[in-house]
Amino acid sequence: MSVLRFSALQEVLHRKPIVVEEKERRSELFGKNVFNEQAMRQHMTKEAYQSVMDAIEFGTKIDRTTADQIAVSMKDWALSKGATHYTHWFQPLTGSTAEKHDAFFETIDGGAMEKFGGGQLVQQEPDASSFPNGGIRNTFEARGYTAWDPTSPAFIYGTTLCIPTVFVAYTGEALDNKAPLLRALQAVDTAATAVCKYFDKNVSKVNATLGWEQEYFLIDTALAAARPDIMMTGRALLGHAPAKGQQLDDHYFGSIPTRVLNFMRDLEHECMLLGVPVKTRHNEVAPNQFELAPIFEEANLAVDHNSLLMDVMEKVSQRHKFKVLFHEKPFAGINGSGKHNNWSLSTNTGVNLLSPGKTPMKNLQFLTFFVNTIKAVHDYEELIRASIASASNDHRLGANEAPPAIISVFIGTQLSEVLDELENVTKGKLSPEEKTDLKLNIVGKIPEILLDNTDRNRTSPFAFTGNKFELRAVGSWANCAGPMTVLNTIIARQLNEFKEEVDKLIDTKKLKKDEAIFNVLREYIKASKNIRFEGDGYGEAWEKEAKMRGLSNNKTTPEALKAKISKKAISLFEEMGVMNKVEVEARHEIELEEYSKKIQIESRVLGDIARNHIIPTAIQYQNTLIENVRGLKEIFGNNFEKYANEQIDLIQKISLHIAEINSKVELMIEERKKANKLEGQKNADAYCNKVKPYFDEIRYHCDKLELMVDDNLWPLTKYRELLFTR
Ligand code: ADP
Ligand code: MG
Repeated sequence: MSVLRFSALQEVLHRKPIVVEEKERRSELFGKNVFNEQAMRQHMTKEAYQSVMDAIEFGTKIDRTTADQIAVSMKDWALSKGATHYTHWFQPLTGSTAEKHDAFFETIDGGAMEKFGGGQLVQQEPDASSFPNGGIRNTFEARGYTAWDPTSPAFIYGTTLCIPTVFVAYTGEALDNKAPLLRALQAVDTAATAVCKYFDKNVSKVNATLGWEQEYFLIDTALAAARPDIMMTGRALLGHAPAKGQQLDDHYFGSIPTRVLNFMRDLEHECMLLGVPVKTRHNEVAPNQFELAPIFEEANLAVDHNSLLMDVMEKVSQRHKFKVLFHEKPFAGINGSGKHNNWSLSTNTGVNLLSPGKTPMKNLQFLTFFVNTIKAVHDYEELIRASIASASNDHRLGANEAPPAIISVFIGTQLSEVLDELENVTKGKLSPEEKTDLKLNIVGKIPEILLDNTDRNRTSPFAFTGNKFELRAVGSWANCAGPMTVLNTIIARQLNEFKEEVDKLIDTKKLKKDEAIFNVLREYIKASKNIRFEGDGYGEAWEKEAKMRGLSNNKTTPEALKAKISKKAISLFEEMGVMNKVEVEARHEIELEEYSKKIQIESRVLGDIARNHIIPTAIQYQNTLIENVRGLKEIFGNNFEKYANEQIDLIQKISLHIAEINSKVELMIEERKKANKLEGQKNADAYCNKVKPYFDEIRYHCDKLELMVDDNLWPLTKYRELLFTR
């Protein structure tokens, strides 16, 4: 086995960077392979173009004749770009993307031609019976179909025209991540637009915006191949920490290694063609860890682009002989990876609703959305926590260098002061003096640009950063659709409630609009105070305080997921028309099962490596030591112990570690057998509380052996090799 490690190291030493030259300007490349507005205008009739635009903006239906026209234009455009196939591109509940390619090519009357009609554009029935559906399809004996989502433009990847679609059962239940997201975005649009009308009657649509930041590791493919754990689970299940890790902070924002830079260029080139507006790239904190972020976009499109990006990254990395790791914690003891979700709301009149404005009225609008967001997060913190739960993200949340499992909101001193003042607004009608004071001295004092507010607290899971909130607890491996669906749904519900309460005060108490708004905001600020936290979110003190405040602290996925099927959550999703009970429960079931399966796989892989790689290697080395002791005895006779002391000590230690590993693996397998007899929550709990605890114990002894055994014999690439070879 160590042969593989050393040949991998040889291979890496001789790698040459694959040089990527950029011949065209990025602005010229951008969106070249996307059937975007520009391409549509060029290739489609005016009527067809208008019907797509209406579908995007107002959700109007596209009739069959128009769909046929659109399909033909789309096909002509795709063929002109060299496409041969088309696919409905969707996001099943596995979290990744799925596609099944069909050729445009058809035989007709003995001849052949390229064909693609409205029918194929609008709806397809993939034989997708193997995707997880959480019992939905058994319950309803319904097949699933994919349906075109015109709000996310079609694109060509490789030689395939990809059409973003939702995936739903014939009975209407969503079988994917996109359908609930679209419903949540619709809900937040309706709710936010209604609230905007208090301030500006011209607003007729509000879009949620999302700008994600993707963190990842790059490991040389040859080195990764000598690590069955990384290949099978995406993370190192064992491995001793290197002498040098990230303690010198010399990687963060450091100069990007050449091979990596070429990978990034190549990736960015693909992104430009696909219309993914990537903008920043840099080294992250850990060695071989990097980050990439785009310009923000409308949330549905941004979610699609992140899913697409992760797929493209895997493909491009292969060209450069890298394996990209999206796992949230590939290496214990070294920083993990997250995916910050920067979120805001923006009107069709071009106003960012979370950006303070120039006038007191604009600032009141800002405060309205700002306070409602905090209130929504306060009321549904446990659901937000659940929306980012996964087996791999469990390693990161609550660990030292990432947001804790406790959700809290950071807003900065300046805005905290404003909210504190607003708590004192008089109940009911306000005197003219108070109104003037509020407008001039409190609301009016919020500066247009909250520069010093941005990012002073990196430990908060939900931080206001000047003109947007940043949900930082999302895992690097996650599909953003989950947390974005929850966030936009709770905001929609909150804004509906706000509107109702304000209208009621106007109608029954005869308050002026702004008086009513101040009155409702005052109550929200008081009610949601517990969720606000400006201190160090990583500290133990916060954990204690959060407990006193009654905030949830669900550290593991099986525990956290419970909030998804609470009465409160189900009625929220139903009320907002985002998911019905069946859809919610199906997702919960799938996620629990996915958790158990991931732990099961890790457990199997760890058992295998420990027994079939580590123990034999340790015995091999031990035999060398025994040989050595025997030789010493031959030479020195009874006196030998004086010279063989250390060796004998090592021989004993190795035996002890081997015994521990073997018995722990045995016990772990027993626990797995027991767990496998259980179902659902109990099964996941058993994997979490009975099987998983063995991981650290087994690892401890394996890592000790790594430090003892001759480096020449060690079969697995070591941390220092994985992390410092580029
Ligand atoms: P970092 O967190 O690394 O310091 P920033 O806080 O500057 O970086 O985050 C920049 C990210 O915020 C980018 O991905 C950008 O697209 C996103 N962003 C900026 N404005 C908005 C907005 N109005 N809505 C959503 N995302 C936004
Ligand atoms: Mg950020």
